[in-house]
Amino acid sequence: MADQNQGQFVLGIDLGGTKILAAVVTPDNQIVGRAKRSTPAQEGGDALMAALQGTAREAIEAANLVPADISACGVGSPGPLDLERGVIIRSANMNVKDFPLGPGLAKLGFPVRVWNDVRAGGYGEFRLGAGRGAKSLIAAFVGTGVGGCLIVDGKIVEGSTGNAGEIGHIVVKAGGARCGCGQRGCMEAYASRTAIARRIAKAVQRGLKCKLDDHFAGGRSVRIKSKELAGAYTDRDPVVVREIERAARYLGITLAGQMNFFGPERVIVGGGVVEALGEPYLKLVRESALPHILADPVGVKRIVMSERGDDSAVLGAALLAREAYFPKTVQYPKTSTA
Ligand SMILES: [Zn+2]
Repeated sequence: MADQNQGQFVLGIDLGGTKILAAVVTPDNQIVGRAKRSTPAQEGGDALMAALQGTAREAIEAANLVPADISACGVGSPGPLDLERGVIIRSANMNVKDFPLGPGLAKLGFPVRVWNDVRAGGYGEFRLGAGRGAKSLIAAFVGTGVGGCLIVDGKIVEGSTGNAGEIGHIVVKAGGARCGCGQRGCMEAYASRTAIARRIAKAVQRGLKCKLDDHFAGGRSVRIKSKELAGAYTDRDPVVVREIERAARYLGITLAGQMNFFGPERVIVGGGVVEALGEPYLKLVRESALPHILADPVGVKRIVMSERGDDSAVLGAALLAREAYFPKTVQYPKTSTA
């Protein structure tokens, strides 16, 4: 069965700090089986590999297939990565070092390629989502951090290290807020959900009233869900409105700068925070970008919302694997959203 179906079914996996998503994808980019598990982020390499293989098997079963039916697998993973070897060099959110992600999954019997999760998500949006029909793109995904992806002439720009695209660590304020990367003033330190939550916590500590202030009782570490932020924003909570506007401003300024530099055809914003806030957030980002975009008659209209949500990385990783191993089976939708 496997031989005559070469290139028919490709597996996409999105490894995140909180969850693992796996999906079996057909040549016309339809998901025919999927699975989801929480990531054993702190239990070490063996537990993580067992969870990855388990999620993969579950998705394959959900598609009524066996591993021998899978022609190839693409994985999106947080980095930094060694793309050649398919290894996670280290991870901020998972307790692994030099983790053989690709080789471990390849034990299921199919070839495996690994890409950065955000780049895979950006590629999914580029070919199958809000970037359809474009040749070049910048994407920014806002969640616990801010990840990015740059695509030029249809190819992900991986850079000399394989890890280029870190839009969140462009400095927007010299000597500014402390970033998770250890430096100061990065865009992520203003625009991520973590940064927004930290600033709301500070405002509450100063005695300002906020709908979300029960999150900060007893000085516990701050975890706010994107949906809760969106709810308080819609209710026009003044503290939340101010911090969301600030976050959108720094993202907009950064995107405008990158638009001036690379001249992408489309700019996509996505991720949990953006999806929860929706159009009002896009509007804020466009307003902030507008005065900084030079000599572009299309201007802020290039900046659009992502379309594929949680599926962007599994779809992107599967498509990248298909392109790498079975290029003749690749189908791109032609329709443009622009
Ligand atoms: Zn940083």
